[in-house]
Amino acid sequence: MSLTFEHVTLGQRVLFGSDKAAENLAAEVARFEAKKVMMIASEREAPIAAKVASAIEVALNYDDVAPHVPVEKAEKARAAAAEHGIDLLVCVGGGSTTGLAKAIALTSGLPIVAVPTTYAGSEATNVWGLTEAARKTTGVADCVLPATVIYDAVLTLSLPADLSVASGLNGMAHCIDSMWAPRADPINQALAAEGIRALDQGLPLIKKHPQDLIGREQALYGAYLSAVAFGSATSGLHHKICHVLGGTWNMPHAQTHATVLPYVLAFNAPAAPDAAARIAAAFGTADAVDGLNHLREVLDAPRALRDYGFTQENIAEAVDIILPIIPASNPRPATAENLTELLTAAWAGTTPGI
Ligand code: NAD
Repeated sequence: MSLTFEHVTLGQRVLFGSDKAAENLAAEVARFEAKKVMMIASEREAPIAAKVASAIEVALNYDDVAPHVPVEKAEKARAAAAEHGIDLLVCVGGGSTTGLAKAIALTSGLPIVAVPTTYAGSEATNVWGLTEAARKTTGVADCVLPATVIYDAVLTLSLPADLSVASGLNGMAHCIDSMWAPRADPINQALAAEGIRALDQGLPLIKKHPQDLIGREQALYGAYLSAVAFGSATSGLHHKICHVLGGTWNMPHAQTHATVLPYVLAFNAPAAPDAAARIAAAFGTADAVDGLNHLREVLDAPRALRDYGFTQENIAEAVDIILPIIPASNPRPATAENLTELLTAAWAGTTPGI
C-alpha cells in the first residue's frame, strides 16, 4: 500500500528525569533569561511547586486554579501576569493548572515551562480550553504549546493510586483514539502504539507499588507520547463523547475518559482491523478489546458512568449533542441507535465487547 500523508511535528524541549525537576527548571529559567517568573499551581499542588522552584526566584506564586479554566479565572490570571511584568510562566500540576498557563499564553504570548504531575498530557499539545457559562470552548494555537516540558516522576508519587489509574487511562484514550482520529497518520499512530505499550507496563506497577518510581516513569513517558499523538491526530469519537459529557454534565475528566474508552474501542475495533491489530500488538494480546479489558481488570479501573453522576435519562440528550460532531473519519458509522447502545453500556458498566 502506498504511503501519502501530511504530518506536523510540534517543536518542544523535553527534559525527563526523576528528582531532577528543580535543577532542570533552574537551567530553563537561565536559558530563557527570565527575570519575572509566575509559578502557577493549585493549592493542592503548591507544596510540589515549592520544591520544584527551590533553585529559582519566583516573582508571583499563583494558586487560583479551577477545573476546565473558567473564563473569569483566566482573565484574573492574565491581569496578575501583566501587573507583575511576568516574562516566563511555569505551571506545576495537572491539566487544569497547565490549562490556566495556556490561557495566559493565549493572549500574552508568554512562554510556558510545564511541569506535569498527572498523566493528562495537556503539556504536549497546542490545544487550549476555556469554560464560560457551563460551555467549554477549545481551540488550537501554537503559542499555548509549552516551550519546555519537565517530567519528574517523583512529583507524581503523591497522586493517589486511583487517580493515577484514571489519569493514565486518559493517556491511554489519547493513544487509542489517535488510531482513527481525523488526522491519524503513520507517525502519530507509531507514537500512540508505543504510548499504549508504556502505559500498559507502567499503570499496573503503580497500582501494585504506588511509591515505586519505575511504573511512574513509564506512565509519564507513555502520557507524553499519548499527548503528542493526540495533539497531532486530533479528536476522534472517544474525545468527542467525553468532551460532551464533561462540558454538559460537569463529569470528572480522567474518570470519564477511563470509563468510556473500552466501549469506543469495542465499537470501532471490528470496523478498523489494522488499528485493532496494532492496539492488540501494543498490549501483547491477540485481541485489542481483550487487551484493554485485561488492563482495566488489573487496575480495577472506573467502570460505569452512573458512578460519576450521569443518569440513564441523560443518554438521549447526549446522543443528540454527540451525533452531529462525530468525525467523518470514524471507521464505523454512528447512528442514534448504536450510539445509544454504546452510552447505555457505558452508563451501566457492562463488560465492553460482550
Ligand atoms: P486536574 O488538573 O484537575 O487534577 C486533578 C486533581 O489532582 C486536582 O485536585 C489536582 O490538584 C490534583 N493533583 C495533580 N497532581 C497531583 C499530585 N502529583 N499529587 C496530588 N494531587 C495532585 O486533572 P487532570 O486530569 O490532570 O486534567 C484535566 C484537565 O486537563 C481538563 O480540564 C482537561 O480538559 C484538560 N486537558 C487538556 C488537554 C489539552 O490538550 N488541552 C489534554 C488533556 C487534558
